[in-house]
Amino acid sequence: MPASSLPLTTPESYSWFAEALLGWYPRHRRDLPWRHTRDPYLIWLSEVVLQQTRVRQGLPYYLTFSTTYPTVQALAAAPSDEVLRHWQGLGYYSRARNMHHTAQQVVAEFGGRFPASYAGLLQLKGVGQYTAAAVASFAYDEKVAVLDGNVYRVLARVFGLHHDIAAPASRKPFQLLADQLIPADHPAEFNQAIMEFGALQCTPAKPDCMFCPLQSRCFAFQHGLVAELPVKSKAKATRTRYFHYLVLRHADTVYLRKRGPKDIWEGLYDFALHETDTAELPAAELLAAVEQLGGRVATDRAEEPAVAARHVLSHQKVEARFHEVWLSAPLPPDTAAAGLAAYRGEEIEQLPKSVLITNYISNKQI
Ligand code: SF4
Repeated sequence: MPASSLPLTTPESYSWFAEALLGWYPRHRRDLPWRHTRDPYLIWLSEVVLQQTRVRQGLPYYLTFSTTYPTVQALAAAPSDEVLRHWQGLGYYSRARNMHHTAQQVVAEFGGRFPASYAGLLQLKGVGQYTAAAVASFAYDEKVAVLDGNVYRVLARVFGLHHDIAAPASRKPFQLLADQLIPADHPAEFNQAIMEFGALQCTPAKPDCMFCPLQSRCFAFQHGLVAELPVKSKAKATRTRYFHYLVLRHADTVYLRKRGPKDIWEGLYDFALHETDTAELPAAELLAAVEQLGGRVATDRAEEPAVAARHVLSHQKVEARFHEVWLSAPLPPDTAAAGLAAYRGEEIEQLPKSVLITNYISNKQI
């Protein structure tokens, strides 16, 4: 694979890059609500919602959050269950928890005002280099270059950088290059332009090289390496987990519990969980699991077959089985069932839940 000769030139010699992007951007950019504001809170909110999420999927969530919590004070004061409930379906729930903590930190430690510089923004917990650069440039016009997946791809292809973009050490050469490319007079527009260019023109698969303003300068295009760049090592293998949910029911209630830390879906609600290493759960093991929770199985109800569902996360595949179990009496308080509580249908609706649980509940019409 031919290697690029970068970086050997002076910043002035890169001006063609910014000029091409700033010429392309006004003609192609999407009209998105966070592009009409300089409010650092709303810009930060949009960046948090859009991380690891496509614009089309994130947009309704941004609209919900920005109208439900129009200020950082409103978000900070919201109950955490409510914040998670609004986040439901967007995935990567740690983002919602971190977002809530950051809002509380801005209110408690900064008087409700976001720090007005890149360095100041980095003091906020949960705000990394990318988000700090985005907010500092979009809200305050600070000359600090953003690096996200789109930017990595555009720079790797145009300048022929062969560093593995999955390796943390690769950040430095990309950042050095991006810092040289960003013009002092249009930092915000440049950052928007390069991300939009990566999202719309120089896409991961099938980039539109034929009508690209950078084609004659693009290292990857000139060397036939568009499909090879950027270099990205494979993500770690996916682990399969087998979740056997005990859907414990009594009268018009169902037992749910809030998930704890150090695992997926922290803070979301689900049913009593019996995790094993196989997809099947023998009847005796199911009964023992219910009894361990202090439950007594009602004998006057016909047993229903388990409902199977699959949920794929970034590094885990969850093979779930929902075993509905009717109890002859409520679960006794102060037993191993600690953490489980009985909820009625309308209460369950208000609880934050993963898509896996939400789909099961709506299909069963609980
Ligand atoms: S020529 Fe193709 S690979 Fe190069 S910048 Fe343009 S769209 Fe991307």
